[in-house]
Amino acid sequence: MQVQSIKAKLFRTNNTAPLTTALNHPPTTVNKRAAEQSCLALLQTCDSLPKLTQLHAHILKLGLRNNPLVITKFTSTASDLHAIGYASDFVFTSDADTRLYDTFLFNTVIRAYAQTSNTKHNAVYYYKVMLEHSVLPNKFTYPFVLKACAGIGSLNLGKQVHGSVVKIGFDTDLHVQNTMVHMYCSCGSGVEFARMVFDEMPVSDSVSWSAMIGGYARLGMSTDAVELFRRMQISGVRPDEITMVSVLSACTDLGALELGKWVESYTEKEKVHKSEELCNALIDMFAKCGDVNKALRLFRNMKERTIISWTSVVVGMAMHGRGLEAVSLFEEMKGAGMVPDSIAIIGLLSACSHSGLVEEGRLYFNSMTKDFGIVPKIEHYGCMVDLLSRAGLVKEALEFVQKMPIEPNQIIWRTLITACRVNGELNLGESLSKQLIRNEPMHESNYVLLSNIYAKMSRWEKKTTIREVMEKKGMRKIPGSTMIELDNEIHEFVAGDKTHNQYKEIYEMLDEMGRKMKRAGYVPTTSEVFLDIHEEDKEDALNRHSEKLAIAFALLKTPPGTPIRIMKNLRVCEDCHSATKFISKIYNREIVVRDRNRFHHVSNGLCSCKDFW
Ligand code: ZN
Ligand code: ZN
Repeated sequence: MQVQSIKAKLFRTNNTAPLTTALNHPPTTVNKRAAEQSCLALLQTCDSLPKLTQLHAHILKLGLRNNPLVITKFTSTASDLHAIGYASDFVFTSDADTRLYDTFLFNTVIRAYAQTSNTKHNAVYYYKVMLEHSVLPNKFTYPFVLKACAGIGSLNLGKQVHGSVVKIGFDTDLHVQNTMVHMYCSCGSGVEFARMVFDEMPVSDSVSWSAMIGGYARLGMSTDAVELFRRMQISGVRPDEITMVSVLSACTDLGALELGKWVESYTEKEKVHKSEELCNALIDMFAKCGDVNKALRLFRNMKERTIISWTSVVVGMAMHGRGLEAVSLFEEMKGAGMVPDSIAIIGLLSACSHSGLVEEGRLYFNSMTKDFGIVPKIEHYGCMVDLLSRAGLVKEALEFVQKMPIEPNQIIWRTLITACRVNGELNLGESLSKQLIRNEPMHESNYVLLSNIYAKMSRWEKKTTIREVMEKKGMRKIPGSTMIELDNEIHEFVAGDKTHNQYKEIYEMLDEMGRKMKRAGYVPTTSEVFLDIHEEDKEDALNRHSEKLAIAFALLKTPPGTPIRIMKNLRVCEDCHSATKFISKIYNREIVVRDRNRFHHVSNGLCSCKDFW
């Protein structure tokens, strides 16, 4: 009866009066059991750290230091209040009665640490403490320990835990297996282990498939991600929104618009829950695969937009050279009460750059710290150098770089050198390129930059010397390739490619294109022949560049007027850029080229990059 009345009193107290009222009247006359119940009830409603510290004192005062129920509840309350450190300092001391330590208590501590990004090491630490005290982990322990290993990114640690999972016999538990796949995917080079675990799973659910597909997507193994997704469909496991987000990210990486569109219609058909994350992934995919209008429509139809949704459309517009729209979206975003993040500012500054909004760009850059609390990073400085360079303000760009409080990176130097070449500051460009080569002697594109400057100076002998130097250094060249997606299939071309089963028709088409282009006034940019073409380095190979092969293929295979979208893994060379402009006009096609740096929207003989890229 006594216990009940105290409990009733505590409930009343908790709901109406501050906690201190109850603590000021400790139940001195009741027995241990009642004290325990009072503590448990107080812990049940404890909702702040100050109240928890009061309860800590209360527990000591009542002599409940080693009461298993109270200590476990204290720990889980601390976990709910994101104060697990406070509890573990109290619970795991040398004077504690180790009989307190059970699986549930350790699971609470490990879970709490595993869920916070900067405390994952502690989760692993307490897992080791658990084993030291011979407390047996159960199937709920391992998912958290594995999650912590994934967060730390330590393959060795993950393997050790895998070993004990097998030893203790939880290796057949689906949830444990799923987190194991996730762990191996997150530990960088361990993806084949993940696949091994995945392949050996007797049963798999959408979580297992998502973990594996997501792992491939995160590691940039996008083709594997898409392939596995196809297998998932055959297996009959219904994908969830997490799977779809990963597949979309793979599509984005591959530039596979058709596949991305198919994924969208699939989510509609299967009524996959359209979370904000999924909508954002769709927006990002459409923007980065070349259909920025569709991205914008999806964005406009979203009910709840997050900072990521806004950022995706601002960056998308900027990438496509639609600077004014990007700036107005940015202003709209501010008006909607969103605080821009660092990435949104990068999108904004690059938008200003593309649209020649020099003054606006300067203003945004100078006020970003004051207005949004964002300290400029190297990318923001890079945008400003690009902005000034595009506007032809080469000297100012150089001064800007010299005054930067952080070390300029190679991208910034390369932008400056390109600006020097375009604006005829050839001597400056030459000395900057030489400096860059001294700093980064094995980077191929630095030689290309210098070589292009010499071409513009008509210093052919120096250009030849560079080529010899590169050959002597045995520089590894990244093979240039262009991908094009037609009828749900991705075709990849390399320069002079004759592996395609329709290569004969493609080469005939190339010849026809060449004749028509010459008639329209196209002159091959032969100054680029030696170096700016990476591996594609033979003069007669100029019109066999992978971009041209892909465009010829598209002209053959698609009805007149269909837009052509291609993706190049390197920067588009000047000759291909010029040829693409001619082709767009002659064949009346919109051609969208995604290269390593940006999108080129080419139509009617003009490119959205305004010939600076
Ligand atoms: Zn080319
Ligand atoms: Zn362009």
